[in-house]
Amino acid sequence: MVANRELQPGEEIVTEMPFVVGPKAFTYPLCLSCYTPWPPTANDKPLCSKCGWPVCSAECENQPQHKDYECQVFAQANEKFNVEAALEETNENGVPQLECITPLRLLLESEKNPGRWKNEVMGMEAHTQIRSRKEHWKLDQVNVVDYLKKQIKLDRFSEEQIQTACGILEINTFEIRTANGYSARGIYPTVAMMNHSCVSNTCHSISPTDFRIRLRTTVKVPPGGELYGSYTHSLLPTMLRRDHLLEGKHFACACPRCADPTELGTHMSSLKCNKCDNGIVLSLDSLDPDSSWKCTHCEFSTSGSAVRKVLQIIQADVNTVEAISGADGADAIQARETVVKKYHSVLHPRHAFNTMLRHSLTQMYGRVDEYLLDDLPDIVLEHKIDMCRMLLQVLNVVEPGCSRIRGMTLYELHAPLLFVAKTLWNAGVIDEAALKSKMIEAAEILKESAAILCLEPPDTAEGQIGLVAKESLVQLEQSISDL
Ligand SMILES: [Zn+2]
Ligand SMILES: [Zn+2]
Ligand SMILES: [Zn+2]
Ligand SMILES: [Zn+2]
Repeated sequence: MVANRELQPGEEIVTEMPFVVGPKAFTYPLCLSCYTPWPPTANDKPLCSKCGWPVCSAECENQPQHKDYECQVFAQANEKFNVEAALEETNENGVPQLECITPLRLLLESEKNPGRWKNEVMGMEAHTQIRSRKEHWKLDQVNVVDYLKKQIKLDRFSEEQIQTACGILEINTFEIRTANGYSARGIYPTVAMMNHSCVSNTCHSISPTDFRIRLRTTVKVPPGGELYGSYTHSLLPTMLRRDHLLEGKHFACACPRCADPTELGTHMSSLKCNKCDNGIVLSLDSLDPDSSWKCTHCEFSTSGSAVRKVLQIIQADVNTVEAISGADGADAIQARETVVKKYHSVLHPRHAFNTMLRHSLTQMYGRVDEYLLDDLPDIVLEHKIDMCRMLLQVLNVVEPGCSRIRGMTLYELHAPLLFVAKTLWNAGVIDEAALKSKMIEAAEILKESAAILCLEPPDTAEGQIGLVAKESLVQLEQSISDL
């Protein structure tokens, strides 16, 4: 997908409705309409009165995406949801019976909407050859193909058609967040045409109410310039991003970021050398996972597989603490800080894992119980400021321009800057002119944040913060001119 004219940062390029929306693969038990975990309470296990599958209310039962799709098929086949099996604790890979929902919706939609199916969806990448050798294919064969054909007796779709539907979903779906914060997946054929790069120049938002996607640029794109999206998490280190892309999307990324052992100077993959003082350990060839890693200052070198082991150990620790939400209180902050300290002598300060933890921490300091902005001593406010600035150094490279994550980080940065300036002025450490210049700095940061976040749909959390930022900016500019 290329720009046919010069595009400015933040310009909307494409907007479209999903072709299909449904539960993600390997899902927990959920309501088939609103994707809320099911059952709502241990004693209340509501099922659809027509088909006997999980929904959370009569309203959800009557939503077209359930009522007009799988509900009719299950009711006709008299195939009920197995509540007992679904609620067994051994369902580590999700509820097998729910695997068929989204592929079935896709197949049914291909009949209801043959025009769009033919023109936009049918030809989407399904990677049938590669997939047929993978574990996921076998699971789909049992849980989707056999289930639909043998159990439900849905003869009008061939095995090949069903596997292709599974492949299209596996390769091309976008994650959707519902208004209640749960996830689902959807197919957006036009946006999915974009190629991948680990430094994308676009950003998409999906409305949690009608699931419309909006794709916009994050930086200026010249006429004829290619538009890139990211199919993976931009805050992962190269080795893990490439694993994820190879496993989930079946290609070996060789983008400029992957090809550069320093990750474009961010050092998101770099390790500290423990054999010398200032050395950094880098891969000699970051496109080869088996390549050796070598120190930039001394003779120390190690194997790619040894580095992978270290990353796996740290990743397990990071995943554990990242699962603790801010709602759990002070623990959420303490646990993350402990992991940062634990690997202080192993990871480069801007390593991807430090960056990820810093991203959560910047959102938590000031918002979590016992750590509300008003309660934070200056030294903690300074810590939050340092973390935001360091995070921005990385984001400016891997999520440049008006990306949502930059907008949020700038927003987190402006408030502690103001707080610290005010305490310094109250204590008589700085004069009014210095106070004013610090307030102007914070206002500039807030202004950029508001401009970015106001590009988000107003029915999302980020869009709401954008509106708040815009109002705060007016007040802040007023206080500056009153000084
Ligand atoms: Zn529901
Ligand atoms: Zn139903
Ligand atoms: Zn890449
Ligand atoms: Zn060294």
